[in-house]
Amino acid sequence: SSLLRFAPSPTGALHLGGLRMALYNHLYAKKTGGKWILRIEDTDTTRFVPGAVDGIRQSLEWAGLEYDYGPGKGGPHGPYFQSERLDLYRSYTTKLLSSGHAYRCFCSIETLTALREKLARTGSGQSYDRRCLHLTEEEVARRVRAGETHIVRLNNGARIPRTSMPDLVFGHLRDSHGSVATDPVLLKSDGYPTYHLANVVDDHSMGITHVLRGEEWITSLPLHLDIYFALGLEPPQFAHIPILRNADGTKMSKRNGDVKVEDYIRNGWERSAVLNWIALPGWGSLHEAEPSSEDSTVADTESAPVVSGAHDAHPRIVSVKDAPESTKVMDMGELVAEFDISVLTHRSSSLDRGKLAFLNRQHLLRAAATPAGLADIASRIRLWMDGNMPLGEISPEYSTPEYIQSVISMLDSRVINIHDIVSLAPYLFVEPDYTSELAQSMIKRATPEQHQEILSTVHAVLERTPDSWDAGTLHDLLTKEKKRRHNLFLSVVRHALTAMKDGPPLVELMILLGKKRTLARIGALLS
Ligand code: GLU
Repeated sequence: SSLLRFAPSPTGALHLGGLRMALYNHLYAKKTGGKWILRIEDTDTTRFVPGAVDGIRQSLEWAGLEYDYGPGKGGPHGPYFQSERLDLYRSYTTKLLSSGHAYRCFCSIETLTALREKLARTGSGQSYDRRCLHLTEEEVARRVRAGETHIVRLNNGARIPRTSMPDLVFGHLRDSHGSVATDPVLLKSDGYPTYHLANVVDDHSMGITHVLRGEEWITSLPLHLDIYFALGLEPPQFAHIPILRNADGTKMSKRNGDVKVEDYIRNGWERSAVLNWIALPGWGSLHEAEPSSEDSTVADTESAPVVSGAHDAHPRIVSVKDAPESTKVMDMGELVAEFDISVLTHRSSSLDRGKLAFLNRQHLLRAAATPAGLADIASRIRLWMDGNMPLGEISPEYSTPEYIQSVISMLDSRVINIHDIVSLAPYLFVEPDYTSELAQSMIKRATPEQHQEILSTVHAVLERTPDSWDAGTLHDLLTKEKKRRHNLFLSVVRHALTAMKDGPPLVELMILLGKKRTLARIGALLS
């Protein structure tokens, strides 16, 4: 059965693009009854960021993307940190050295830089003149014994050009010779492997059957296939996933809003909504259309090899953005059920942030409709209130699932994100803030005397009502009072109860606040 891997480099926080790649690996594994590995590609010590692995793991855990094997979990293919697998890379390097598929290079950085510049001027497309390939065995042995610094290069001179490279998303990728440097480095002078060697060795030694990764790695594919070939190994199947872009077509990056998963966690987005949102771009199921001329210019990225024959391999999907499915509300189970790698488009797609709002509301309502989902929402709101509201103590009775449920249904369509529940109506959790500018402006039209008069009347009327309020009675009372008073009546009462201009209908509000709280608030403003 299938075995996949998500292989991030711990160079920082997990971004949406990385989360999407983990999700696709997860979906593919689940769909095919397979498993997936979390592998940490930490051989580039210069880019290592302390804490990044923990951050990545936390983001995956939040998302519910539980890997089958990896850090903290173990498994038969470990260790799952590349930095703990250095011996393995060295032994593969030794194999390549003895078969003549690799050689040691003693050239200094200065020599290499000078060579590269010289070769660039000749326009030969070469980046190294391969001089160390011609060193005698004796000389190599002597220099190694003497401890001379060196690297190991792939001997790629006899490379057999492939005509095409199969890909589960792109169909067939044309092999681009130009993208592979002359005799690329496999082992660096510090004994660490390059990304390419480690990646190939691990995918093979871990038994990976399918490599699902970002389209930015297409340029590395020819080299990876070269390494498999040199080692006499069968490569896994590849599926390169088009990267996400901003709506304006530029590459998604920090400059254009939140890209870190942890920002979405902190900002209260539903995990299922975020997954739904990032899964959909490029997901072209049920939306097949004639290949258009636009559709054939796939390789619009700087580096991607030209894609050829993709139409023959897959009937292609276009204008995914407009597909009805692109806002289809799906939880993890539904994503797995619907997932089909063969209908992923090979065009890069964009993430529409407005769509997240739509999906989040749908997922929130779905969750709130189940006791477990509601309890989870309530506890997250509680957590957030405790950490984020400088408004004082919140009584535990205002963060029970039942109370939260009433708030959600009262605020209705205005709730998109759980944080809205608090920010739209803070007065449902803590005392109203009468000092705000808005609150002050609300009562400007009434004189202090009118204000007091309205409040004392309402207080007296409400005091006489039975303790448990029903909407009908309250409605009648308020209508009667409103008719007898001027139109400032409602806004004065709303001010007393909320200190905010907009909000739910007064009757609903009063029922949720309850008789005791309502009277207390009005009473506190009476002098
Ligand atoms: N370590 C690479 C990355 O950070 C993994 C590439 C691959 O999946 O082959 O994206």
